[in-house]
Amino acid sequence: MDRNTTDQSFTESEFNAESVTNAEDTGPEQTDGFHLVIDALKLNGIDTIYGVPGIPITDLGRMAQAEGMRVISFRHEQNAGNAAAIAGFLTKKPGICLTVSAPGFLNGLTALANATTNCFPMILISGSSEREIVDLQQGDYEEMDQLAIAKPLCKAAFRVLHAADIGIGVARAIRAACSGRPGGVYLDLPAKLFSQVIDAETGAKSLVKVIDPAPAQLPAPAAVKRALDVLKGAKRPLLVLGKGAAYAQADEEVRALVERSGIPYVPMSMAKGLLPDTHEQSAGAARSMVLKDADVVVLVGARLNWLLSHGKGKTWGEPGSKKFIQIDIEPKEMDSNVEIVAPLVGDIGSCVSALLEGMGDDWKAPPAEWTDGIKARKDANLSKMSAKLLKNSTPMDFHGALGALRTIIKERPDAILVNEGANTLDLARSVIDMYQPRKRLDVGTWGVMGIGMGFAIAAAVETGKPVLAVEGDSAFGFSGMEVETICRYNLPVCIVIFNNNGIYRGTDTDPTGRDPGTTVFVKDSRYDKMMEAFGGIGVNATTPDELARAVNEAMDSGKPTLINAVIDPNAGTESGNIGSLNPQSTVKKKK
Ligand code: ADP
Ligand code: MG
Repeated sequence: MDRNTTDQSFTESEFNAESVTNAEDTGPEQTDGFHLVIDALKLNGIDTIYGVPGIPITDLGRMAQAEGMRVISFRHEQNAGNAAAIAGFLTKKPGICLTVSAPGFLNGLTALANATTNCFPMILISGSSEREIVDLQQGDYEEMDQLAIAKPLCKAAFRVLHAADIGIGVARAIRAACSGRPGGVYLDLPAKLFSQVIDAETGAKSLVKVIDPAPAQLPAPAAVKRALDVLKGAKRPLLVLGKGAAYAQADEEVRALVERSGIPYVPMSMAKGLLPDTHEQSAGAARSMVLKDADVVVLVGARLNWLLSHGKGKTWGEPGSKKFIQIDIEPKEMDSNVEIVAPLVGDIGSCVSALLEGMGDDWKAPPAEWTDGIKARKDANLSKMSAKLLKNSTPMDFHGALGALRTIIKERPDAILVNEGANTLDLARSVIDMYQPRKRLDVGTWGVMGIGMGFAIAAAVETGKPVLAVEGDSAFGFSGMEVETICRYNLPVCIVIFNNNGIYRGTDTDPTGRDPGTTVFVKDSRYDKMMEAFGGIGVNATTPDELARAVNEAMDSGKPTLINAVIDPNAGTESGNIGSLNPQSTVKKKK
């Protein structure tokens, strides 16, 4: 990959492994590393690869496609990696990202680390240089000790040196990615492995079908009883549903727990829609109040990390004012930030079922004083918001534009919403209600930018449903070239760019007057033209009505579409909702 082939003393084919097994040979049938990798993936029900072709894996992608796998070629490995990661979240099967060595591997590694952080099952498969040269550091083409570099950044990392070990290597990678707390796995395949030839029958026998890759993990009965005892004593109980609960696909159990217990709940961002956001027990619109006032909080597949203020501080009211019960598959998660009085270790489906069983017939719903108070706060907050959503100003502000999109998702609840940005993310999260599980895909645990096009592409490929990607103009830039990929595969993706001319806002200036301010972009850019360049539909929308019309048309036609939504450059705040994490200098330097 990315090698200048002029003025080189070798030919590219020397480095690019190609399959040489050939049906016309006499003697026992043979297979090679290429075929075995493909056969091993297919045997385990993996039917899609996201990647960028190049040395030494070009032929692998080509052959996988010929063998009936879906191979989606991207323009940059980070986007292919993000696609694989979210495919893992959506399907509970590890998403596969395939890259070339060194630089391609490193590009994919960001996505692998992000997948691990988010507990998404993913396998990054990278071709690599020959061990003999790498280990003596003799300077190979794209030489890098990839296994060593990947190790600290993922859940597990493996290398396969012999074709006969490919079956076991792939099986270990799948099991590591899916079992327990899911995560990213790195699989290192040196170039020479691909063309190693072995007897076909031996090869077939070496493959391993992983039985039960994510075994159910049942909570201990004593732990279930402890949790129920705490919950029964609660006066102001609260459920927090996290993306672990969305991932677990225990949708019916989670719904039953909410409805049978009568306990109000708040969904974390990617758990929105697990129950419809319009559910009467949703306390999403009274979030600050319930986090502060609850006396017992049950975390269901949600971590007490920065997104929940670490379970302490002002957000959570008086110190010692609440008890936490936590359901998680990862025992080490317990007590990570505050004391967990009732840890419930196991998979969400098993834990929630055990709680339901233990609740018995005499279960009492929480006191009306608590639930009525929440309802009053919710109603007040929602009516405050609904006025803003009707704003029809030109240029649009965030609320006006989001009001239009909120209606569209309400009318098309099976569409998938991808969302990244700063203000675009924070405001869309609270404005756009979700109605079905795993329909909201966003920046996740790191709050990272750049997931947009990778997530949108995989969502379309894995589900076949229309995708609406709501993107800040800055966030979009990290993966924007993939609009070509969207057009090439003719995917039903509609991208809406909230274009306010810059990062946070479009109004920053350089105090010296020399350059543009550090957070602004070219004024009044027309991102819609990017889509037109590749044969997709581009629209410039200046009002909420124009925006709604264009999105509806895109969703009806399924044609790749990019809408440049013109937002007031003065709208938006520094760092969106997390301005408090953005240190600002208070020192004035003497001139
Ligand atoms: P959120 O950001 O929505 O709060 P997190 O990513 O912080 O969600 O937390 C998800 C949690 O869910 C992780 O601690 C992970 O270990 C856990 N988890 C993932 N899958 C399962 C599962 N099948 N059963 C139980 N817990 C799970
Ligand atoms: Mg912006």
